[in-house]
Amino acid sequence: MVQADENKKTAIIRLYGSLNDFIPHNLRQRSLICYFKGNPNIKDTIESVGVPHPEIQLILFNGEPVTFNKPMEQDARISVYPFFHNIDVSYVQLVNPKPYDELKFMLDVHLGKLAKYLRFAGFDCLLIPFLDDHGIVSEGTRDNRIILSRDIGLLKHKRVKYGYWLRSQMPEEQFKEVVQHFRIKEQDLNPCQRCTTCNGKIKSIEKYDIIEDLKPGTKKYFDEFFQCQNCGRIYWKGSHYKRMRQWLEKTMISVYGK
Ligand SMILES: [Zn+2]
Repeated sequence: MVQADENKKTAIIRLYGSLNDFIPHNLRQRSLICYFKGNPNIKDTIESVGVPHPEIQLILFNGEPVTFNKPMEQDARISVYPFFHNIDVSYVQLVNPKPYDELKFMLDVHLGKLAKYLRFAGFDCLLIPFLDDHGIVSEGTRDNRIILSRDIGLLKHKRVKYGYWLRSQMPEEQFKEVVQHFRIKEQDLNPCQRCTTCNGKIKSIEKYDIIEDLKPGTKKYFDEFFQCQNCGRIYWKGSHYKRMRQWLEKTMISVYGK
C-alpha cells in the first residue's frame, strides 16, 4: 500500500496486449494508479511500473501520442501499447517507429541454445561468454543489434534501443517467441549460412580439400560440404541437419499454420 503523501502525484496507466506480461496477474488488463514525485519523464514512469522501453511502440498521453521525453503531469491518463503487427500505425507519432533496420541479434550470456537455433535459421546472432550487462549493452548497441534477454533490468538500460524480453525459459519456446514477435517468415530463413558454434559465415567447400579430416562414414555417404570462414568447422547435411530442418519447419507451422 502506498502511503498518502502530499508531494506525491498520481496518474492512471493502462497497459495493452503483451505489455501486461510485465505486471502481476491480478493487475493485468486494468487501469493502474501510478504515483510519482516532481516531473519525471513518461519513459521512466512506465519503466517503474515494470515495462522496459524497447517493448513499447506507442504511448497516448491524455489521448495524444507523445515521445519518451514527455514530462509527467498530475491526473494524466496514459495508454501504453506494444508493437502493432497487423494494424498500420505509421500515421501516428510512435516512440519506436521502426523497430530495427535488420534482424541481427545480441544475446544475453545464458542463451546459448537459442543462439544455436537462430544461427541455424541463418540469423547473425552474437553471444560473447562472460560478458556483463554493460558489455552486452555496448556490443549490442554498437551495430544496432536487437538485444534478447531474460533480464528485464538489462532491457531498461537507457542505451538499449532495440530489445525483447524472452518470456519462456525453454530455448525452443524462446525461438518461437522471436519468430512471433519479429514476424519472421519462411522467406527470412536461411539455413546453413551461419556457424552454429561461432556465428561465422559458412561457405561451400570442395570435398577433396577436407577429405583427410572426414570420418570414414561421412567420407562415404556425403559429397556436399561447408566450412565456417571463422573457426574452420566443417558441416554436411547429415541426420542432425535433417532433424533441425524438420524442427524449423514444424516451428514455422506452429506459428503461422500450414
Ligand atoms: Zn565457426
